[in-house]
Amino acid sequence: MKAIVATTDRKAEVVEKELRELKPGEARLRMICCGVCHTDLHVKNADFGDVSGRVLGHEGIGEVVEIADDVTSLKIGDRASVAWFFEGCGHCEYCTTGRETLCREVKNAGYTVDGGMQQECIVTADYSVKVPDGLDSAAASSITCAGVTTYKAIKEANLLPGEWILISGLGGLGNLALQYAKKVFGLKVIAVDVNDGQLEFAKEFGADICINPLNEDPGKVVQEKVGGAHGAVVTAVAKSAFNQSVDAMRAGGTVVAVGLPVESMDLSIPRLVLDGIRVVGSLVGTRQDLREAFQAGADGLVVPKCEMRPMEDINDIFEEMEEGTIRGRMVIDLA
Ligand SMILES: [Zn+2]
Ligand SMILES: [Zn+2]
Repeated sequence: MKAIVATTDRKAEVVEKELRELKPGEARLRMICCGVCHTDLHVKNADFGDVSGRVLGHEGIGEVVEIADDVTSLKIGDRASVAWFFEGCGHCEYCTTGRETLCREVKNAGYTVDGGMQQECIVTADYSVKVPDGLDSAAASSITCAGVTTYKAIKEANLLPGEWILISGLGGLGNLALQYAKKVFGLKVIAVDVNDGQLEFAKEFGADICINPLNEDPGKVVQEKVGGAHGAVVTAVAKSAFNQSVDAMRAGGTVVAVGLPVESMDLSIPRLVLDGIRVVGSLVGTRQDLREAFQAGADGLVVPKCEMRPMEDINDIFEEMEEGTIRGRMVIDLA
């Protein structure tokens, strides 16, 4: 079978590979598709260390074709996920308190273990979330990372219907954040992006206010127009986006960091203390978050915009990602 692996020269390559036998607790998926995420770009660029030879991908959806004798959580024929949160230890303070993605012994698909960009993939059955009927596999792949990440991030902001959320960065993640914010949480949305094309796209998906920071100061505009946002989800990969989001908060607001620029943000301590601003990081989502995020997709509330591409396009996709020309999500067709 074919697999997409990271290479030593920081590229991706399609190679022939063979799977080992299943161990107890595992299932084998015949992969249908796998979305391409900005994190895959970081991994193949060795930004988190050299992982050459590793199969990339953590937005995988496949059909269960084999289970180990002891597996009860999946059955043959189910569709299930290969997610960034591939497996936790199951017994630490994080795993037992609803914060399993913070497990110190976590395994991450496409990074510390082989991921979803291969025609067949071995998963830890109890950690592979079943895809509900009625949810298209390509859509499910986008929800497996981008969808659940933004869904969870909005949850972390603790907002009420009708409140204002600022979404910074309207790429693959931001577009899904926008849909979850509007359709699932009933929020009003301020879309912020340096790319007018992404803002146009955001407007089509119902953004109430669109701001390009190259033309206007988001903090100033948001304070003037709505008295500050109640929360923000920052998917952008620029330090300035984080600073602008703090500026745009009303007192008591929560800025949730999702994007991963390799820099530090500026944070005024008086602003933090006197205005009670909270700044929190949010990392993908738990299995339960993913079930909920999938269900919103199955109910038709969230419709990821996906484009299917062949495995051989992987390096072109990474280039397009670096150039910022991608609208929606690129999904590798593995079927
Ligand atoms: Zn991802
Ligand atoms: Zn743990």
